[in-house]
Amino acid sequence: MKKTLAQIRNLLIDMDGVLYRGQSALAGAAEFIAFVQERELGYLLVTNNSTLTPAQFHKRLAGMGMNVSPERIMTSGVATAAYLATQAPPGTRVNVVGEAALVHELEKRGFVIGGRESEYVVAGWDKTLTFEKLKVATLAIRDGAAFIGTNPDKTYPLENDIIPGAGCMLAALVAATDVEPLVVGKPETLALELALEFLGARPEETAILGDRLETDVLGGQRAGLSTIMVLTGISSAEEAEAYPTPPDWVFADLPALQAAWQEALRG
Ligand SMILES: [Mg+2]
Repeated sequence: MKKTLAQIRNLLIDMDGVLYRGQSALAGAAEFIAFVQERELGYLLVTNNSTLTPAQFHKRLAGMGMNVSPERIMTSGVATAAYLATQAPPGTRVNVVGEAALVHELEKRGFVIGGRESEYVVAGWDKTLTFEKLKVATLAIRDGAAFIGTNPDKTYPLENDIIPGAGCMLAALVAATDVEPLVVGKPETLALELALEFLGARPEETAILGDRLETDVLGGQRAGLSTIMVLTGISSAEEAEAYPTPPDWVFADLPALQAAWQEALRG
């Protein structure tokens, strides 16, 4: 039997296309976060974007009227550093194709940023990518370093343009090394499993809320979560309907989701 929204105790919330788009908050976002907090749902904001730290996301959200503590914001950079900490001790050398926020998360865990001699290569979205960075990472992987990707998103949507995403950096390294990365972010399940662990949540009482079928919905389904999609981001209602495994719920936007949730709570 299909669950009702009233049975959801924990919520993993994607940010881009759900809470905001570009620099603008989406309608009802602040109200929805307040609703989640008042209901005392376990929640975590989970984003594949590794180019800002939780503190920076916290600030951006605060500017849009949402008060979410940095501890409740899990970027793919945070998740990648947390995962790596389960695999290797502090002091391990890691070569990074990525931006300052990703380096920051790895250093926070005690990893040392290294070059070709590194035991791991971590690659994420890098808007300052150079040939030199690709070369050093390629040589490290060819020398036997384990290859980890923060997230596979091939593109990143701006207000009017679609620009290269982290998946392009991964693709360049795959082409140069013939090695496939272990990917941490959605639609792989490592980041989602870390999020569940952080919340002490069981998959069957947890939902993921996102805007993208091939990352949020697919990742949520692989992790055993219920899936809620809003139509304020990437995927359309038609695409959701045609998807081999459609999301459990599709709503036009957050106000529609909140109204349905309140209705379900009234029973
Ligand atoms: Mg999104």
